[in-house]
Amino acid sequence: MTNRKTYAALAAAALVATTVTATVTGASPANAQAAPPANAHCGTSTGDTGANAWTDHAELRDALETLEAQRSDVLDVSQIGASNRGRAIWAARTGTGPKVVLITSEIHGNEKTGTDALLALLRDFTAPTPEARRLRSQVTLVAVPKMNPDAAELDRRGNDRTWAEVVADFPQLASARPAWNYYTQPRSGDDYASRPGFDVNRDYHPDLDYVPRPEDFPGSSAQTGWYIHPESQAIRDLYKSLKTEFGAVDTYVDLHHQGPCDLDESGENQVTMSLSGKFIDIANHQEYDRGYRLDYSKQLTLAAYDALQTRGESPFGSLTLYPQDIDLPGTGLGSFALNGSGTVLFEVRGQTQTWGAKQRGQLVQTVVNGLDGIIDALADGSVTQVDPARYDDIPETQ
Ligand SMILES: [Zn+2]
Repeated sequence: MTNRKTYAALAAAALVATTVTATVTGASPANAQAAPPANAHCGTSTGDTGANAWTDHAELRDALETLEAQRSDVLDVSQIGASNRGRAIWAARTGTGPKVVLITSEIHGNEKTGTDALLALLRDFTAPTPEARRLRSQVTLVAVPKMNPDAAELDRRGNDRTWAEVVADFPQLASARPAWNYYTQPRSGDDYASRPGFDVNRDYHPDLDYVPRPEDFPGSSAQTGWYIHPESQAIRDLYKSLKTEFGAVDTYVDLHHQGPCDLDESGENQVTMSLSGKFIDIANHQEYDRGYRLDYSKQLTLAAYDALQTRGESPFGSLTLYPQDIDLPGTGLGSFALNGSGTVLFEVRGQTQTWGAKQRGQLVQTVVNGLDGIIDALADGSVTQVDPARYDDIPETQ
């Protein structure tokens, strides 16, 4: 999700950055007026920037092929679709348990930690160990790493698609105004003017059989999306098939990044990861309520939170609750929550930048440990014993 930052957080981050800069370089106080760029490092962080350290599309293919060859008895990798520019979208499935967990990463292509975390999770979950066998007997894991590969290869938020291409796929939209989430101007350093694209994470609709209608455009953030993109269609189709097979998609987790400079309630610690189980205001979407379970999403969120607290995986920051006052039915999380799935958002620190291999590894491990917490609690049934009221005690981002 990201791209949502309060003025207070920006101001605090600017203050931190300025303080450090001034200490190191003796820079003038005039810099205090400058907000950090979107990819700024914060505090005393050092390290490289750019996308090179992360797993690209070809490397993901190789990693999935290798793992499938090693664990062919328990892992199946299949192509579930192709991006607008024809890049494969893969789903990796393992386990035979009655509870299905669907996890996606990189719907925003500059939010890359989740893809590496899913590869690590798949290695753990398919391992020839008694513990992994036990988990596989209780849970079916379906992971879609890098679900928006065109955006990922461009290292940006939006996909690579023009409105004209949308209309070519849906001729009934010839008279419609382009979707509100269509980027055609430079944005966050990315050149959407010459290569337009859409925020795919506003393209979902709780009616999984919805067909785009011109009167539903341009829409808005508070309204449902349309499944006009091959990337969201691939996830929708997978979700539908799992729902048919299992009766319900028990849990859906979407892996994102937030800004690198968010601070916790104390105002002193940078947030390692924010979690959330709430993405819509159900009062506004009663017509699409097909078994919304907010308390269950809170229990799943707490399963991740408790696991991370227990394991102390906050090496350079802290865990917080993502803002709760959002109403985003066009997100995958919002639409699938309305379909009755328990839903959890992970917003780990950073956009594309890393802080070097060690801290990058810690952030990936933070995501993995949070996912482990959810899967463990599902496998042994303890998730249903979690008191959802504790959700409100998770500290908020400042
Ligand atoms: Zn995001």
